[in-house]
Amino acid sequence: MQKIEKSGLYYPNRIARIYLEAMEEVMGRNGLVAALRVAGLEEFIDNYPPANLDREFDFADYSALNGALDDIYGPRGGRGLALRAGRASFARGLRDFGALAGVGSAAFRVLPLPAKLKIGIPAMAKIFSQFSDQYSTVEDAGEEFVYTIHKCPVCWGRTADRTICFAAIGLLQEGLKWVSGGGEFRVEETECVAAGGERCKFRIEKTPLR
Ligand SMILES: [Zn+2]
Repeated sequence: MQKIEKSGLYYPNRIARIYLEAMEEVMGRNGLVAALRVAGLEEFIDNYPPANLDREFDFADYSALNGALDDIYGPRGGRGLALRAGRASFARGLRDFGALAGVGSAAFRVLPLPAKLKIGIPAMAKIFSQFSDQYSTVEDAGEEFVYTIHKCPVCWGRTADRTICFAAIGLLQEGLKWVSGGGEFRVEETECVAAGGERCKFRIEKTPLR
């Protein structure tokens, strides 16, 4: 795969560790080892980053890992695995960050769905803005929310003829499920830096599919 220049932008070790554990969960150890090799990240084989908040995992490495899925499994297979790994990463630990933000508390759980979304989605964005260099914002656009990742680790330094930030979609879907108390929501990437966009933008429908 193409070599990606380091970005100088970072996830905290703990988020990188959670993502690697999530990938291992969906692909098995051998699948993850293969992806780390293709991504040029052999140093992380059986050696995940520590579970601390030091910002040391470069966005270029996160992007390379996601690119490796496409290289190994093809665009369709890679897409499915990235979606599942994104979901698993939220379920495995990112929601603990959400708990810090008060989402999921007893007082939060009794709110009506529109209020849950209005509070919970910006809370998710804030977690990334606060703990990593992934500055993220949310706008309420009436029928939908627009979630913007201003510096996107999923596609950093890659180019594509389509939107490719599937790990982010999976993460958002699982986050929405947790915020809403079990709902499945349609999330669509409408603009992607890899495909020539200015930012990576995601459209979140307010009405759950189920
Ligand atoms: Zn992106």
